[in-house]
Amino acid sequence: MRRFEDTYRHKGLRKKLVDLLKEKGITDEHVLDAILQLPRHYFLDSAFDEKAYEDKAFPIAVGQTISQPYTVAYQSQLLEIRPFDKVLEIGTGSAYQACVLAEMGAQVYTIERQKALFDHNKQFSYLKKYPNIKFFYGDGFEGLPTYAPFDKVIITAAAPFIPEKLIAQLKTGGKMVIPLGEGAVQRMLRLTKLADGGYSEEIFDKFSFVPMLGGREGL
Ligand code: SAH
Repeated sequence: MRRFEDTYRHKGLRKKLVDLLKEKGITDEHVLDAILQLPRHYFLDSAFDEKAYEDKAFPIAVGQTISQPYTVAYQSQLLEIRPFDKVLEIGTGSAYQACVLAEMGAQVYTIERQKALFDHNKQFSYLKKYPNIKFFYGDGFEGLPTYAPFDKVIITAAAPFIPEKLIAQLKTGGKMVIPLGEGAVQRMLRLTKLADGGYSEEIFDKFSFVPMLGGREGL
């Protein structure tokens, strides 16, 4: 089994990464603190040890990626996380984003459609530190009706449309952060659920995610 070590060098690189995120406009201290705490190099292949603290996305298993730290920080900030918020994440991937939210005190429910990534996370011992994350293997388009309603929903793959079932699983006043678009580039939106069941929309910057796909893979 891989042994994890978080050295002073890693901590120093992390501090620099947090300074860079501040320069890029991230202001939520809770987000910055979570990134400062979390050893991102544990979430990558050991070959990427120091590269883990560059502000870049990296490949993980089955053609998927761990999101760029700036993207993780940006989405986390838009979610306006309060301690004990119940958050649904679509696209567990490396579980790094889920840990950032858990570190901020959220109760995280995260869904992954790739069996290989779900199984990897079951073996990933560091995640035991976060009993406030629940992992599910399934299709994020369906959400988790049995655990609804949620305070927040975060989609970490490029959504081709706004999934109505996920809107239905939000509390009134709840927020969804979603990169929307079918091409190479998506637009980040924040939706707020209204009392009549509809939602209002705020438009943010452009990002580039791997696609949100229907169904499960790997059975
Ligand atoms: N949040 C992740 C980002 C991973 S990339 C991290 O912090 O590393 C996006 C992930 O979404 C991929 O792992 C992909 O398999 C997954 N995904 C794509 N469509 C999905 C769907 N419909 N349901 C659940 N997961 C999905």
